[in-house]
Amino acid sequence: MLIAGAGMAGLVAAVRARELGLEPTVIEKGTRAGGSMLLSSGVIWRHLRWEDFRADCPGGDESLQRLVWERLDDALAWLVSLGAEPIWDDTENPRTTGKRFDAHALTELLASRVDVRLQTALPPDAEPPVVLATGGFGRRLAEERGLLLRANPWSAGDALDWSLARGASITAGMGEFYGRAMPARPARIHEEDFVRLAQLYGSEARVLTDDGRDVTPRKVAWHENDLAQLIGPSAWYVVERTNDRIEAARAVGGTVVARNDGRLAVHVSAGVTHTIGGLLVDDHARVVGLDGVWAAGVDAGGVATGGYSSGLAQALVLGLAAAEDAV
Ligand SMILES: Cc1cc2nc3c(=O)[nH]c(=O)nc-3n(C[C@H](O)[C@H](O)[C@H](O)COP(=O)(O)OP(=O)(O)OC[C@H]3O[C@@H](n4cnc5c(N)ncnc54)[C@H](O)[C@@H]3O)c2cc1C
Repeated sequence: MLIAGAGMAGLVAAVRARELGLEPTVIEKGTRAGGSMLLSSGVIWRHLRWEDFRADCPGGDESLQRLVWERLDDALAWLVSLGAEPIWDDTENPRTTGKRFDAHALTELLASRVDVRLQTALPPDAEPPVVLATGGFGRRLAEERGLLLRANPWSAGDALDWSLARGASITAGMGEFYGRAMPARPARIHEEDFVRLAQLYGSEARVLTDDGRDVTPRKVAWHENDLAQLIGPSAWYVVERTNDRIEAARAVGGTVVARNDGRLAVHVSAGVTHTIGGLLVDDHARVVGLDGVWAAGVDAGGVATGGYSSGLAQALVLGLAAAEDAV
């Protein structure tokens, strides 16, 4: 069995497949294992209440959401049984439950259990059985829309193209992404600063377009993912006073302007972390319409549609589901 992508979903699928007696080949397009997982805050979570998951992600497929929601606690216990040590046993968010891991340690642990062939992309003529775990098409979406990329640089939709050429289907929400407001160019943003540079105070800001139109929404979701969709390539957050995130933006060359009314305007741009739409899968992570092909992680669409849920949780649960179904 071929597993394309050595991020969260691909590594989990590979480790689980080996446990179950398979000998998967793991290929990774990039120069390192870990994908966006390696850059992440490492919080693997689900909504505490099922109703909140449905309300936050109303466009998602209910059976897929149920799979992630119901299996996550066991999946986390499986990670811990491998030797992964949580650095928090909760998420510090009253709406959610889960665990936080050190992303580097988790990548190292998973990658140490399987052989990963680096700098090897999914070949166009790859034959099933295949687990697609290439991390969606964030890079392509960012380039098409002029947005920043806040993710690994290799997830550009290769698995999507491969599957569509063979007759797979896609979900709703192909234009949606999980993202953050980031300091707009000319700010210099290195990948190790993706977390601290997120301009996560949008619920307290007025949001203005480049030509000064006030587009502040009446209500901002707790995760601010709705603001990331709204601001697009260029907008301004206007706030009463500075904060650590604004100072961090200023320090990397971001534009922060003192206005005549005494307020500050921060130039922001949406940064794409990963796409939310993707391949249509069933609740065993099988790509609908393709025999012997699974999509795990954010290559699969239909989990967070219309909102925001944990990409790491989706990758962990679908990675396990794909490996278990492939046996
Ligand atoms: C700054 C940041 C913070 C985050 N914080 C959190 C958090 O706290 N909690 C949370 O739930 N989520 C978080 N995320 C999101 C999370 O990292 C992703 O949702 C998760 O990594 C998705 O897993 P994946 O396996 O689908 O993709 P990835 O982990 O990105 O792995 C995909 C892999 O596929 C490889 N690949 C791409 N194309 C090919 C190809 N053609 N052939 C072979 N390999 C290919 C890529 O190089 C990559 O290694 C964060 C992300 C970022 C960037």
